[in-house]
Amino acid sequence: MDKHVKCAKCGEELEIKKVVIKYFDHEFRKDVPCCPKCGQPYISYDFAKGKVREAEMELEDK
Ligand SMILES: [Zn+2]
Repeated sequence: MDKHVKCAKCGEELEIKKVVIKYFDHEFRKDVPCCPKCGQPYISYDFAKGKVREAEMELEDK
């Protein structure tokens, strides 16, 4: 996981924040890099895919 991603708009270094990811009827709180200036979360395709898989596994555990 690259930690020094910068916002394409502001050029600010992204900070890891807890965000709520909505996946169908479920919400998951995950650490996602966000721009401290505009608040835009940076979720790459692979990252999102991995998080969804994690979320699915969490569901199956219950
Ligand atoms: Zn930004």
